[in-house]
Amino acid sequence: MKRVLGNGLIVTMDANRTFFRGSILIEDDLIKAVIEHPKCNPVALKTEMAGHFGEVDELIDCSGMMVLPGLIQTHTHLTQTLFKGMGDDLQLMDWLQTKIWPSEAAHDEASNYISSMIGIGELIRGGTTTIVNMETVHHTNASFEAIREMGIRAISGKCMMDYNEGVPKGLMETMKDSISESTALIKKWHHTNSGLIEYALAPRFVVSCSEALLKACVALSREYDVRLHTHASENRGEIQIVRDRTGMENIEYLNKIGFLGSRTILAHCVHLSEVEMKFLAETETIISHCPTSNMKLASGFAPIQNLKEMGAKVTLGADGSPCNNELNMFMEMRLAALIHKGNQLDSTIMDAKSVFEMATIKAAEALGKEREIGSLEVGKKADIVTLDVTRLESMLVPFTEKNVYAQIVYNASNRDVRHVFINGDMLLRNSNLIRHSENEMFEEARKTIRRFV
Ligand SMILES: [Zn+2]
Repeated sequence: MKRVLGNGLIVTMDANRTFFRGSILIEDDLIKAVIEHPKCNPVALKTEMAGHFGEVDELIDCSGMMVLPGLIQTHTHLTQTLFKGMGDDLQLMDWLQTKIWPSEAAHDEASNYISSMIGIGELIRGGTTTIVNMETVHHTNASFEAIREMGIRAISGKCMMDYNEGVPKGLMETMKDSISESTALIKKWHHTNSGLIEYALAPRFVVSCSEALLKACVALSREYDVRLHTHASENRGEIQIVRDRTGMENIEYLNKIGFLGSRTILAHCVHLSEVEMKFLAETETIISHCPTSNMKLASGFAPIQNLKEMGAKVTLGADGSPCNNELNMFMEMRLAALIHKGNQLDSTIMDAKSVFEMATIKAAEALGKEREIGSLEVGKKADIVTLDVTRLESMLVPFTEKNVYAQIVYNASNRDVRHVFINGDMLLRNSNLIRHSENEMFEEARKTIRRFV
């Protein structure tokens, strides 16, 4: 299949961060050509493209659109998408113990499947093409089925919990069961669906995991070369529990048991000492900054600017639907750019360009996938988003090297996303999902949620 995205404003995110008017040739799963040319009318575009690429299966006119690399979110919970609106305005531990854990425990295969389906639908509609996802403890196969069917690029894994700190029975497992189920899931799903699916071991957080389980995860991640994904230092109450149990700060403890490293993704990292920040930077641990979640659960302001200055790998995520209540990367980019300026009284930090890098090429680099995704360059996988920049609210001045990122980070919204490609497959056309009916998914999800409320 040969498709051309013609006449768009291409924001490449290549090494020189070039952007220009031009066209992209997608052939099968790859970007085969990226060319620059002057803006042309629809008739001239056909002739121009035929001259460059010969016969193609489809030419999509992207006039009035920016063409961006697919967005990368490094922390989500598809399993919780059904539960948005079920736990607003609560403290973290209260929110977890009275709302989220009991709801997750009540999942069955069908409810976890539809929760993932609508979550992925929302992500794709908002231009997210890659996720790092934490499931619930059970029914992980159902979520992987949804990931496979919807075609999103995902690093995902079952949640692991074997330590009793207010954990409901339905989510408690023994270390042995947790490890053997995870191993079976690795064997079944890691590097499947044309490489779109990878496995990640996902112990929930230190509070709900025994040291033996955490250490077994480290060993398993080395054995199968899979990632580790957990929550860390999100909340003061959480780090106090870890301090009482281990006599150490949370990140210090994770470092001591060998949990940190370039394979590891830690969500939040809000409350950190200087030493802990150094550990994170030195071990090349990936940090997933979730600004909406941190504000909604009143976790605090993560020291993102400091971490970046120390060379730590900082990326972005929406977290789960109940603590957000969207899975909208444009919102996360906007908040990441704004909240730290306000908190540190410095409007020069977290500029739009560096925030967009965190959502694209820097996230790809952090995940070791920069040769595949994160920018629009020849030879990379065709994970591409087009963004309408002709709304009445859009910027009016000509785009320059400086303000092009301001349009994306400060002005654009998920509703401006028009077309989405993942691995060369067109999954969103004119803001409509192609593979599944949005109405049918919504009705199914609405029926399912009745059982939970
Ligand atoms: Zn989370």
